[in-house]
Amino acid sequence: MFNAYSKEKKVVTLLNLTRTEIEQMKDNKYFCPVCDHPVRIKNGKVKLPHFSHYNNSTCSIYSEGETLEHLALKAVFAKWCEKEAIEYELEKYLPALNQRPDLLIGNIALEIQCSPLSAQRLVERTQNYQKHGYIVIWICGKKLFSNHQTLNELAKNLCYYSDRVGFYLWSADLDKEELTIDYHIEEDFKKKLYSTKKSWSFYSYFLLEIFNFPKNSNVYIQRKYKVGQLINAYYSELNRKLYRRDEKIRKLQSELYNNRLHLIQLPNWFYYPGLPLFCCRESDILLKIGIWNLVQFFDQNVFKYSELIQLLKTNLDQSAGLFYELPNIPSEILQIYCLNQMLRQLIVCNHLIRVENGWKIEIGFSKYSISDVRKWLKKIENKCLITATPIKNVIR
Ligand SMILES: [Zn+2]
Repeated sequence: MFNAYSKEKKVVTLLNLTRTEIEQMKDNKYFCPVCDHPVRIKNGKVKLPHFSHYNNSTCSIYSEGETLEHLALKAVFAKWCEKEAIEYELEKYLPALNQRPDLLIGNIALEIQCSPLSAQRLVERTQNYQKHGYIVIWICGKKLFSNHQTLNELAKNLCYYSDRVGFYLWSADLDKEELTIDYHIEEDFKKKLYSTKKSWSFYSYFLLEIFNFPKNSNVYIQRKYKVGQLINAYYSELNRKLYRRDEKIRKLQSELYNNRLHLIQLPNWFYYPGLPLFCCRESDILLKIGIWNLVQFFDQNVFKYSELIQLLKTNLDQSAGLFYELPNIPSEILQIYCLNQMLRQLIVCNHLIRVENGWKIEIGFSKYSISDVRKWLKKIENKCLITATPIKNVIR
């Protein structure tokens, strides 16, 4: 941390001081603004000068030492604010929350996350901010999201969503000196990540404008998937895992079995489009079982759009346990995303059909032979799918 209290309870900051100035302050006594325990100045060669607790510290907020990256990025964002004359508070302790954002800019709490954090802690901290009227912007350090190829559980839970740019994630790279947004994020069944990136060099543009990018972006992004190949590969993978008695697949298969279904003889809709719902923790087949049971029950019925939505919403509510926590995305927004995806897929697979006075559900066969599935896979081999953002709701 850069700030501590003096003996007189005055805030002392090391942020803009030279190493020589700091060296002269070293003999004074300083105290942690959170736990009041004594802290000392560390003015070594590697990290930026900072205050540090003694080894036996039990401080609730600064228990572990801060990394070079974390200190340096904090300093970057503080300097960025100063350059633009944005009022900010560094390491402001918020007693009501017992939290201390790296930077507080108005009601925006900036959190630079450079080390692992449990999903549970992340959810608690995020909800605590939200409850007290703060907007929290999480920025990933290098360890959390360096390759931009896969999302680990924490990085996934740090994602946001906006209608204009889809799922997105902030990250900062100290070596490249860039703030980056990965957006229109999608994953295929192998958890391979697809995203569009936009980066800003540090100090090169208005910081708050950058943070408004997801809300204001006018960029239209399209992505084309060879969905036929993707589904074929997905189906092969399911076969392989079933044959190898993969633990998760066995669980999935037994759930399917309870619903008189079989993993490799499912209606096409279950395999479509090989890009699982982003919010699903594991296979989205589990989610689809519930929805399938529901639509099957209403086979040949005609619905009004609103009735259909209500029906699916109830089902999604009951399925929340299958999703990642995603504390930065309001549950209503996530639900709309899921609904749109599910409805679109039901339409493409001809289970949901527009009729004169509403929408009709047509189940067709509820069970397929393996050769039926293979015939379908052959038929769609060269099929492509275009995903886009911003995307308008399909049905309105
Ligand atoms: Zn402390």
